[in-house]
Amino acid sequence: MVKKSSNLFEMAQAQLEEAAGILHLEPGIHAILREPMRELHISIPVKMDDGQTKVFKGFRVQHNNARGPFKGGIRFHPEETIDVVRALAFWMTWKCAVVDIPLGGGKGGVICNSKEMSSGELERLSRGYIDAIWEFIGPNRDIPAPDVYTNPQIMGWMMDEYSKLRGYYTPGVITGKPLAVGGSLGRGDATARGGVYTIIEAAKHLNLDLSEATVAIQGYGNAGSYAAILMHEITGSKIIAVSDSKGGIHNKRGLDPHKVLQHKTETGSVIDFPQAENISNAELLELRVDILCPAGLETVITGENAPRIKAKIVAELANGPTTPEADEILYHNEVFNIPDFLCNAGGVTVSYFEWVQSLNRYYWDEEEIHQRLAKIMTKAFQAVLAESLKRKISMRLAAYIVAVARVTEAMKLRGWV
Ligand code: GLU
Repeated sequence: MVKKSSNLFEMAQAQLEEAAGILHLEPGIHAILREPMRELHISIPVKMDDGQTKVFKGFRVQHNNARGPFKGGIRFHPEETIDVVRALAFWMTWKCAVVDIPLGGGKGGVICNSKEMSSGELERLSRGYIDAIWEFIGPNRDIPAPDVYTNPQIMGWMMDEYSKLRGYYTPGVITGKPLAVGGSLGRGDATARGGVYTIIEAAKHLNLDLSEATVAIQGYGNAGSYAAILMHEITGSKIIAVSDSKGGIHNKRGLDPHKVLQHKTETGSVIDFPQAENISNAELLELRVDILCPAGLETVITGENAPRIKAKIVAELANGPTTPEADEILYHNEVFNIPDFLCNAGGVTVSYFEWVQSLNRYYWDEEEIHQRLAKIMTKAFQAVLAESLKRKISMRLAAYIVAVARVTEAMKLRGWV
């Protein structure tokens, strides 16, 4: 039984506790893994366009680097809190370990409403963030990347700021950069593509024909919109509902994901898309579909709505979309869950490819990226599935078992415990 909590970091710690019990984790190891190794709390003064200076609060949390430098995105969000960033950093450690890439876990966040800021203000904020943390990051220390409401342009500014402070061009410090400044092919849709590879494996396991399957996607940002496009193109599945922060749309005959994206770009939201009915985000989650893909923010599937989830597969492209209480209900109802740090690991996996390419100044073609990504995601999925079947536990718990065992082994071999 997992402890209940509305605090995201406590929820993440409760998940670890369950895995620790099964693995008979030594108390010392558990104590190290429960907490971040380092936390930076910063204040960033930014000269706004009106001439006033505004101070933004930001964080960088470095959870664990036993297997390699800390790695993880930076979010710009008006309701960012240290506990959310802690939980996300924590999950990055397991994410990198479950796909077996030589990186640890970290995450950053800035409390700001990026939608209301000009490009110049965003650039000054991005550079200010790096000015405050640059001595604690680096290609061999901590490598940030994009996340909610940050993008390749922001990564370009951050890489430039770091390079100026260091005194030389350092593309290996950040991933998710634009192609022209050391980015990688295939990074844009990597989170969604990796998720689709895990859905393909889950469907094989469940004997589900994806060309006949229906899909609902919550969130139409980077992960969600690419997931819709790739599920439509790679597996031929029917996308019957999508949503964003303003609401959702539904058409049981199927939506054209490209046209929906164009509509969102033009109007700012997916809602009011012609030939579809508007629905709420809550309604979308409870639709009768084969695959439900939460691809927006955290804690949307809770103890309250989990009993009404009708999907056969829940593919978590978002970080932390399901509370532990909901987890138990879904597992009991035989909903097959592809847990977040497995399902959405494609992003950091291609970030790893980008880091390797940036360090070597030698770039691969897109086909090579896709092939390597498919191999890593499939292998990780199979390792987690095998653990889940062997121990008769949920996929989430199985993913923790695989990841925690790998991090623990590295900690022991390094002599930390
Ligand atoms: N922000 C993404 C995640 O949560 C990618 C992190 C990265 O590429 O470092 O996985």
